[in-house]
Amino acid sequence: MDDIVEQLRDALGDDQVIDAGDIEERYLRDWSSAPPHTPMALVRPRSTAEVSTILSLCNQAGVGVVAQGGMTGIAGAAIATEDQIAMSLERMRGIEEIDEAAATITAAAGTPIQILQEAARERDFLFALDWGARGTATVGGGLATNAGGNRVIRYGMAREHVLGLEAVLADGTVLSMMNKMQKNNAAYDLKQLFIGSEGTLGVITRAVFRLHPLPATACTALCALPDYRSAIALLRHAQRRLMGAVGAFELMWADYYGIAHEVGNARAPLPDGYPLYVLTDMLAADPEGDGARFERVLEEAMDAGWVLDAAIARSETEVTGFWALRDEVAAILAAFAPCATFDVSVPIGDIGTVVEILRERVSRLWPGRAAMFFGHVGDSNLHFIFALPDDTAATELAVEEAVYEVVRDYQGSVSAEHGIGTVKKPFLSYSRSAAEIATMRGLKAALDPRGILNPGKVF
Ligand SMILES: Cc1cc2nc3c(=O)[nH]c(=O)nc-3n(C[C@H](O)[C@H](O)[C@H](O)COP(=O)(O)OP(=O)(O)OC[C@H]3O[C@@H](n4cnc5c(N)ncnc54)[C@H](O)[C@@H]3O)c2cc1C
Repeated sequence: MDDIVEQLRDALGDDQVIDAGDIEERYLRDWSSAPPHTPMALVRPRSTAEVSTILSLCNQAGVGVVAQGGMTGIAGAAIATEDQIAMSLERMRGIEEIDEAAATITAAAGTPIQILQEAARERDFLFALDWGARGTATVGGGLATNAGGNRVIRYGMAREHVLGLEAVLADGTVLSMMNKMQKNNAAYDLKQLFIGSEGTLGVITRAVFRLHPLPATACTALCALPDYRSAIALLRHAQRRLMGAVGAFELMWADYYGIAHEVGNARAPLPDGYPLYVLTDMLAADPEGDGARFERVLEEAMDAGWVLDAAIARSETEVTGFWALRDEVAAILAAFAPCATFDVSVPIGDIGTVVEILRERVSRLWPGRAAMFFGHVGDSNLHFIFALPDDTAATELAVEEAVYEVVRDYQGSVSAEHGIGTVKKPFLSYSRSAAEIATMRGLKAALDPRGILNPGKVF
């Protein structure tokens, strides 16, 4: 085993290879509850050629390699164990090109998402991938997990933003597919294999993303609703009347809303006591007329009885304040620790019923514990925080089983946007059939016959 570390040092130079005892804490864990591990070494390549060398050497030696981005994952997927090599892409960062004619941005895998957002904005474009960890999460990690986030309802998951990709296979073969064209049906679209495969099929080194026009206006409102049926009616009404310009549709059930402004710093623009709250906005291009259009749609929804009360943000500070309510997750987790957190998908029409079933189920099994529901409901994504009665792994597993059984019954997904990693591995079969998992294993065996890429993750 030590041989491979020496071989890597010979091939890459001393400063590229860090021995187990000298690896900083941040490479050992992600944001999940998965336990930290210290890999046998950490390598930090500077180029695609070096990634290729590392993989080729590890493949010959049969040693596992775990690609690491910003380590903001929530599934334990980037943690390398004691018999594996961790490969951080953090030195491969930077914007390579913004092509205004093609409306694309090309960046290296280790570049944080926020850097792409800022570079695009400077050239009057929108890089529309966005989520809370934007300052640390990277291009490679975002694509390997097919990240979602705040704007999926309007612009889609990470997969929908990618036009081209460069990836290195387990044996060191470089696949350069840096396509910039929207139309390219020249046989298989191989880049899709690497998106969402959590580093198990190849290491992403560069990517080409599509850019969008920068919205000139963003009108934001927080609305109080009587029930889940009204939330769906409001969503469909707003999408129809605004021609798909809805940029977010974030639902908060009363239990989440009350606790979010109680334990966090966010102010509550609407009083407690309503069954549901939705944070929604419209991204558009007419500063003169958009505000009135947005308000008209909300008035129509009030007349129909779908909205009981609404607050419209009148300044950037108020917009930030409204979003702060939705982003109080860290404060809630700290206040209620230990907690189990869930990121699941259920067909939109069933989410209201699923929440009722889950609330009833967990309160019957573990009475008196706080259960808080919220989510990117416009894209069928439900989040749920449950305050556990104790911090034992057995209790957490029992709560997970109780929740994922309901998700399975409604043909939902145990992972909406955070991936499987190690944390959700026991539940993959709740959302994927035996035939699907066998096909995944077949793909893995074809691309990585020695099983060196992120071993032990996903299945
Ligand atoms: C505060 C906060 C908010 C979040 N909000 C959201 C959200 O709204 N939506 C969402 O989807 N996620 C969210 N996340 C989760 C996380 O940010 C995403 O999963 C993100 O995509 C991980 O990126 P990363 O660079 O940190 O990857 P890492 O955590 O380092 O790695 C994640 C996975 O990608 C693999 N990987 C990393 N780089 C490469 C590469 N170059 N090639 C191949 N595989 C690679 C790793 O092996 C691992 O399997 C949030 C996380 C935090 C901490």
